[in-house]
Amino acid sequence: MQTEVLIIGAGPTGLMMASQLARFGVDFIIVDQKASITDKSKALAVQARTMEAYQQMGISEAALEQGMIGRAVNFVVNGKQLRRIDLSNIGSGLSPFPYITMLEQSKNEALLNNFIEEKGSGVLWNTSLESFTQNEGHVTAILNHKDGEQLTIQADWMIGADGASSPVRKQLGMTFKGDTHEQTFFVADVQLTWKLEGHELFICLDKNNFLACFPMKGDGHFRLVGAVPVPLLNKEDLSFEDVLVDLLPKLNFDLQLQNVKWFATYKIHHRVVNNFQRDRCFLAGDAAHIHSPAGGQGMNTGLMDAYNLAWKLALVVQEKASSKLLKTYNEERLPFANQLVNTTDTAFEAIVSTNPLVRFFRLNVLPTVVKTLTSFDTTRELAFKTVSQIGLNYRKGSLKRNHQDGNFTSKAPKAGDRFPYFPTKTGTTFDWLKGTSFQALYFCETADAPKMKQLSNYFKLAKIDIQLHQILKTTDVSIFENLGIQEETLFLVRPDMYIGYRSGEIDLADIEIYFEQHLTLV
Ligand SMILES: Cc1cc2nc3c(=O)[nH]c(=O)nc-3n(C[C@H](O)[C@H](O)[C@H](O)COP(=O)(O)OP(=O)(O)OC[C@H]3O[C@@H](n4cnc5c(N)ncnc54)[C@H](O)[C@@H]3O)c2cc1C
Repeated sequence: MQTEVLIIGAGPTGLMMASQLARFGVDFIIVDQKASITDKSKALAVQARTMEAYQQMGISEAALEQGMIGRAVNFVVNGKQLRRIDLSNIGSGLSPFPYITMLEQSKNEALLNNFIEEKGSGVLWNTSLESFTQNEGHVTAILNHKDGEQLTIQADWMIGADGASSPVRKQLGMTFKGDTHEQTFFVADVQLTWKLEGHELFICLDKNNFLACFPMKGDGHFRLVGAVPVPLLNKEDLSFEDVLVDLLPKLNFDLQLQNVKWFATYKIHHRVVNNFQRDRCFLAGDAAHIHSPAGGQGMNTGLMDAYNLAWKLALVVQEKASSKLLKTYNEERLPFANQLVNTTDTAFEAIVSTNPLVRFFRLNVLPTVVKTLTSFDTTRELAFKTVSQIGLNYRKGSLKRNHQDGNFTSKAPKAGDRFPYFPTKTGTTFDWLKGTSFQALYFCETADAPKMKQLSNYFKLAKIDIQLHQILKTTDVSIFENLGIQEETLFLVRPDMYIGYRSGEIDLADIEIYFEQHLTLV
């Protein structure tokens, strides 16, 4: 069998990769050793940036219908409900999804799997990677089907989206530096009743223990997460009831279990590879980075790895860009993975550490800090931009260019930033970014047909696949104010909604420099 891209692993990362390649019309094969998508809820938090990508794919409405909005977080300290912090519109004006969506990983996987099937493809289930080799021209992989059949697949490129113990990463001999947290944690999906009000997020703390309760769709349905009490660590057939009997009196907390749908214990690791690419093979998702679940970032980061790589891979296999474009995948995603491992680890330590100072902070300061952070516009905005991943920029990467001229205020987005979201008179800024190609957004005072023609002719001649939009100040001046631009401005926006190029004038020679850097075959 031959294909352009072989994807190993059909967890959320692999399925997103396949969905994106299907959008771009790239030929791919996706395999997984499992029999089907997961039936476990696992990751629960879907961040705004992921929802924005889902919106571009036309599946955000289904995600919202099947999930629920995380409306508020409540701190319960020594059994008392201390603070309630409203999260229902915390990112107001910053994203079409100004909140955290709670949607189980199993449902995310189902949405993506349906997306691929609707595009006429599907996962080869029960098929596991045995080994592979790569040379200058391609990757050759040997796979085993459960019924005993062996497959040999030759692919131009291969993606290891094969999870934390990634066989692809191991066979590439790549390092996965980091550590494992000494505590053991539990996760349980339950139906319960208790005295606390609201189907919201509750963080219950005392000096030695914590129990985080995440709302899930359905009456009284919650995901409970905490540390397994030390005396129970070696207990055989440990059940969730055993954990609760130990934990609830200490937390001075009362709840009645109706039903336990899933209970598991696990270790938390923080590890990152030193490169997301080795020749014709890429790593994405948990195969490249794992960290604590604090902040609900893991699944979202894997999805965004795939979203970053897919359009670049599409341009390369369709011979519209040279393979050096693919180097920008590691350049853009590795620094973020490193940063994430450090920040989620610090946040996690604040919740689980037994250090007396950290303990004092957790019980006496943390709820107030979170309340304060969300009370002021600037800190609320910063917190939302960070957790939702909409604030992530690629300004330091090489795949961006700012023309030296232009009359911009400090709030104007730069090349390397996600294009900002806000409502316009006719819709929102994201209406311009729905397609699969680059988008040229040309902002000017009044209609300028000759300049539009000049741009359009240039893109045609240079064989650059791009959609051209003209946005007039006379039609909607608020767009210019919101963008922090005053005069003529050109933004070239990548298929993943990031600004690649910004200029205060039409300078074809300068645009050419941008495209020649990475985006042409030269
Ligand atoms: C309890 C828990 C709670 C979590 N909560 C959150 C949260 O709230 N928010 C969040 O963002 N993240 C959360 N996470 C993390 C999230 O589940 C992972 O980050 C996510 O599953 C990673 O997706 P992935 O596709 O990269 O890897 P995986 O989901 O691990 O998928 C890898 C796939 O590769 C397949 N595979 C492996 N080896 C082979 C082989 N040799 N051949 C073929 N197929 C193979 C596997 O069968 C698997 O299907 C949580 C995780 C856990 C365990």
